[in-house]
Amino acid sequence: MDLVQINHFIGGQEVGVDATSRFETINPSNGKAYASVAHGDASDVDTAVANCAQTFAEGAWSKMPPAERSAVLSKIGDIILTRINFLALLESRDSGKPIINARRDVMRASSLMKYFATLPEIAIGANFSEEPGYHSYSTRVPFSVVGSIVPWNLPFLFAAWKSAPAIALGSSVVLKPSEETSASAIEFARICIDAGLPPGVVNVVLGDGKTGAALVDHPKVEMISFTGSTYVGRKILQAASSRLKGVHLELGGKSANIVFADADLDKAVEATLFSSYWNTGQICTSGTRLLLADEIADEFIKRLSVRLRDADLVGDPSLTTTQIGPVISKRQFEKVQSYISLAVEEGAELVFGGNTPTIKDCEDGFFINPTLFKNASPKMRVAQEEIFGPVTVAMTFSSESEAVEIANSTQFGLAAAIWTQDIARAHRIAEQLTAGIIWTNCINRIRWNIPYEGHGVSGMGEDLGVECIKTFSKLKVNQINFSGNPN
Ligand code: NAD
Repeated sequence: MDLVQINHFIGGQEVGVDATSRFETINPSNGKAYASVAHGDASDVDTAVANCAQTFAEGAWSKMPPAERSAVLSKIGDIILTRINFLALLESRDSGKPIINARRDVMRASSLMKYFATLPEIAIGANFSEEPGYHSYSTRVPFSVVGSIVPWNLPFLFAAWKSAPAIALGSSVVLKPSEETSASAIEFARICIDAGLPPGVVNVVLGDGKTGAALVDHPKVEMISFTGSTYVGRKILQAASSRLKGVHLELGGKSANIVFADADLDKAVEATLFSSYWNTGQICTSGTRLLLADEIADEFIKRLSVRLRDADLVGDPSLTTTQIGPVISKRQFEKVQSYISLAVEEGAELVFGGNTPTIKDCEDGFFINPTLFKNASPKMRVAQEEIFGPVTVAMTFSSESEAVEIANSTQFGLAAAIWTQDIARAHRIAEQLTAGIIWTNCINRIRWNIPYEGHGVSGMGEDLGVECIKTFSKLKVNQINFSGNPN
């Protein structure tokens, strides 16, 4: 079978490369190569950045009236929805995501564009208290070129999410998707053009970490917005800081999902099922450290195991009945398997899964059954390190203070969830947790107008909401003297 050709997208069109500069991308549900992808080097990055910088300087987008920019962003959201069937199929094949998941991501990308369409028209400057005869005010000015580097777990959604605030404020963006999932970023750029975004406002360069590093290193890229692992985030911060660039980092997590004895257990079980295993557990905010109050631990594990057994979640991602697909790659498959073995070695007790299913028509796919361990201890590596797969590790606590101590005992600080019917307790615990987002009686709930920022090694810089305006623009102040004084 001929491989699908996926090329860079620069200046409003596809830019191919010769056969020696390409790599193959694998369909995770059958382990087979299905596409040949252009591999960008420093010169491809330079072409894309130069084109973005020129587009920014010419002003067709950066100086467009805010209301017109809003209309284009909103139209991007509309077009995304009209292509949902095509985009969901593409995303499912590229990432192994079940088709229902992929459709959800596409719908969310559309609603995200609608939210960011409100940004250009929001007044973001300020007036300052001044002496008589002086007037001082601030404005926010866009970075010229923003480099957006994204991971493979939500490829299309992140293409939109990491471009939208920058373009809403007038920047041009060079987007570098993960080498595991290149396809949908190109479709996002195509939709932008079809919606009326001038060519060169969103360019896409494909490739791996070296391509990303060339983007970080490029002198004309004024800001880097990165979503990915803490390991790579650190490298990016070091490289960008030597060039004094703006940096926004959304990194890894190992979020605590804390269930108190007075919680509504059925709701907490259902939400845990979703949080821990949705997207095959490949979600940064998944509550994969399950902290259970002593009194309800056995009952909770029993109910969760029953749901895992009865739900029959894993299957061929192209079927609409499938809830959990394969993990992204052979490498990730091996990594998750090694954590499962490690959990057993460390003495955690396997309650469910831990093995690989055989899926009809997908025999060579990277499938792992949803896996639950209990009786883990907080210091185990499986309770400390991000696995990024369908593995949840449960442990118990006997008091509020112990719950907080365990929850705060990792280096991460992305998110945490609290399940209780005691509102005072919910506030008391939330006040003590180290996390950028805390959910009470809900989990993995992201709304575009509600901002967040990773704590600890989970990130830096505010994302979403009006708060992201600060992250994606620079402050400029103008002091005017009309007093008649010389200064
Ligand atoms: P990764 O860090 O390996 O790669 C992310 C991106 O960085 C890819 O596009 C990759 O090609 C690029 N890259 C790799 N090395 C680079 C370098 N030296 N310079 C520049 N770019 C480089 O992450 P991944 O495996 O693709 O994704 C999983 C990780 O992403 C997990 O840790 C997860 O928690 C995190 N994540 C965080 C959030 C969040 O909002 N906090 C959201 C989703 C995923």
